[in-house]
Amino acid sequence: MLAIIPAMPELPEVESTRRSFAERIRGAQITSVRLGKPLRWPLGCTPESLVSQRVGEVARRGKYLWLPLDRGGLLLHLGMSGSLGFSSASAPPGPHDHFDLATNRGVLRLTDPRRFGAVLWSDALDADPARRLLAGLGAEPFDAGFDARALHAGCKRRRCSIKTALLGGDIVAGAGNIYACEALFRAGIDPRTRCHRLSLVRCERLLVALREVLAEAVALGGSTLRDFRDTDGSAGEFQINARVYGREGQPCLQCRAPVRRIVQGQRSTFLCAHCQTR
Ligand SMILES: [Zn+2]
Repeated sequence: MLAIIPAMPELPEVESTRRSFAERIRGAQITSVRLGKPLRWPLGCTPESLVSQRVGEVARRGKYLWLPLDRGGLLLHLGMSGSLGFSSASAPPGPHDHFDLATNRGVLRLTDPRRFGAVLWSDALDADPARRLLAGLGAEPFDAGFDARALHAGCKRRRCSIKTALLGGDIVAGAGNIYACEALFRAGIDPRTRCHRLSLVRCERLLVALREVLAEAVALGGSTLRDFRDTDGSAGEFQINARVYGREGQPCLQCRAPVRRIVQGQRSTFLCAHCQTR
């Protein structure tokens, strides 16, 4: 099987990142804040105003991380190439280290060569600017309140293909290109199937498959992150064992028919036209 390295941090990488430092930073007190070159948006407060505040329970919403503080909190996004590392020994910042949150437990550092990432202060998750950025985000895939019926109801309202709807992220968040292709293969659903034609039973299979793929990716991301040193800038990348993604022309692992690549919404879709039906 091919090893795939995602081009940008997706939900599993962000969740792996959260798990890598959430326990250690909870309750830590901010001692200083260092800003490097400008990120996608300005911080929205003075760095000094964050000093002496305590960090609460780090949460994730879609591909955003939320660090609650005594007053408001910080919303972080890894952008195209960002990675976050938390280490007790603070190495001097490198040329791509654009945000350091120093605490009495260690330094949370954002490394982002392309600087599409962001750190911005918000009064609360449901207050601007966080509310504006999170508006339109679909359900969390692992949220127990999100079930096949909810997925089915969301699909009923769409006329586009199920692959395009998954990538849109407004029914369910977190299905990036690789994960959408892999989940549809495991569920036996042709990615070109019109959303509104998917039955409840097939939505159930799809949700199970999506959760499986994302959970495997989170677990693999975690194992990669454990080896991650905060100077190499590779925390956002990890490998999954893809069954169709990136395997054009190779035999399907279930039926041996060649895996096909098509283009949907300017993104590559990989599928087995034999195992996946409309
Ligand atoms: Zn097949």
